[in-house]
Amino acid sequence: MGTDGMDQESCDICGSDAFRPLYEGYDRLHGCPGTFTVVECRHCGQLTLRPRPTPEELSRYYPAEYCSHMPQPPPNPAGVLRWLRDLTYAAHFGYDTAPWARRSRLAHAFAWLLTIPFRRAFPLLPRAEHRGRLLDLGCGAGAFLDRLKQLGWETHGVDISPEAVKIACSRGHRVVCEVLGDIAYADDAFDVVRANHVIEHLPAPTRTTEDIFRVLKPGGLLLLALPSARGLVPRLFGPCTFSLEVPRHLWMFSANTLAFMLKQAGFTDVRVRQFSEPFLLINSWRYFLQEHRAPGTCRYRPLPEWRMRIYSLLLRPLLMLVDLFGAGDMLEASALKPPERVCR
Ligand SMILES: [Zn+2]
Repeated sequence: MGTDGMDQESCDICGSDAFRPLYEGYDRLHGCPGTFTVVECRHCGQLTLRPRPTPEELSRYYPAEYCSHMPQPPPNPAGVLRWLRDLTYAAHFGYDTAPWARRSRLAHAFAWLLTIPFRRAFPLLPRAEHRGRLLDLGCGAGAFLDRLKQLGWETHGVDISPEAVKIACSRGHRVVCEVLGDIAYADDAFDVVRANHVIEHLPAPTRTTEDIFRVLKPGGLLLLALPSARGLVPRLFGPCTFSLEVPRHLWMFSANTLAFMLKQAGFTDVRVRQFSEPFLLINSWRYFLQEHRAPGTCRYRPLPEWRMRIYSLLLRPLLMLVDLFGAGDMLEASALKPPERVCR
């Protein structure tokens, strides 16, 4: 047993086996049975769970209605929405979807400014110059891969859900069903690997990151998004923090632990951006209220879309201030595998 009377599983990031308990938690999203303790590594600050579900136990915490596994319509907006989407691709990501926006600096600047509000609708979209083979880890039913295929990418994916894999394959993507974290591909196979809200679900994120490094071509790009364990929301709402997602988030990162893990795996040009997401603040507040009305019985109930949009708009100014102080509750990271002459 460790110093706190817990088992001696060591920290995946720094190898320390000294943890301190932070909060008690349970599954508020799907109501799966069990109580868990969120613990913090005393050395690097990484958060994890006690007990931490084993890879064999994990599938029971991902019911069929788990959000990313639900089928989604292909992204084919019409009219002005389509025009704005294509303009955003061109102005912010370098695609050839609105040639007029690339004819002059002035046209580009105009298109860029006009589409700033839409940029966030395309999380972890790689720029056109990386175009080639992309692997989406935790691709769900393939909504993101649909988008990439339209933009000329060769699309590959991995997901834990057989139902989701079936849907993604039926849409023309090469997707395999694997336990999250297993990447059974050849060395130097991909130009880009993307993992959107995946790395925090993995039993051994360090090992998977090393594997991502292996399957990327020299010069290849890794794109990650995940919640931060160190933002304003965890400080305000503690155990009611929506993004703790007990027991599916096995590891919770800070900007520092994430950057450390990527550099240890061999990546260079590691960039981590921390920003706020109103959705997380609003749902954490709702968990907090429910927990105080009836402790231990809190369950996630989605807000109507229009109310979420209005609350998000109202919170934006406050959250921009939060971001200025680096206290956002989301992380986005990019990192490069060094070119061949350096890494071989
Ligand atoms: Zn640690």
